[in-house]
Amino acid sequence: MVVRRNRDLRPAPLPGRHLDDGHGLWRYADRIAVRCHRCDTPGWVVGTSQSRRFRCLGCSEALDGGCGCSRCGAGDWVGPVRYSGYRPCGYCGHKWVSAEVRQARAASAVRTLVADCSQCGRSSEVDVTLSRLRGNEAIDPHFGLPLRLVERTAAGLLWAYNEDHLQALHDYAVAPLRERAGVTNASMFSRLPQWMKLARNRVLLQRSVERLQKRLLGER
Ligand SMILES: [Zn+2]
Ligand SMILES: [Zn+2]
Repeated sequence: MVVRRNRDLRPAPLPGRHLDDGHGLWRYADRIAVRCHRCDTPGWVVGTSQSRRFRCLGCSEALDGGCGCSRCGAGDWVGPVRYSGYRPCGYCGHKWVSAEVRQARAASAVRTLVADCSQCGRSSEVDVTLSRLRGNEAIDPHFGLPLRLVERTAAGLLWAYNEDHLQALHDYAVAPLRERAGVTNASMFSRLPQWMKLARNRVLLQRSVERLQKRLLGER
């Protein structure tokens, strides 16, 4: 009798069952269908572990990014940002007076914001720093460009990076049984929004993914 060893020691999926092997969303981040933030032309963000780039064929916009290490720097970002900071109140010493503002795009350099103390009610200037807002929005994680594969459903927003990502979501949607194999909560499937995990939304998810698959074929 020949005993075959599963190379990664994980059980193979059974027919009709979906097996979450624990891979993260980043598996799909090497090719991302986006729209240019300036002229709306469809394009692709392509990346390796060392570098990422976007070249618009409509307006010749060019965005570049490194691997995210301190030597490469942070790279270009055209997506939503947050300016935030905190300080002790200059009048009553209350800790903390905090200030935060979100913008769809980093437009001008915001260095300070005025915020009211929750204790004495007087306002102070607070130094703020900029951070990129990735969140769970329908934007690419490298430059913050709007994703192309976005579908608003009755239950919630569906988005995907590329055809492999769509296929993975489709496999998930059509499987009546879902299993996890030694999976942490960093897995892409465990982080799906709740509406996608509900059994009653399986058909809705499947149809919505199929609409996006058709749209991607048409746009190529
Ligand atoms: Zn463009
Ligand atoms: Zn105060």
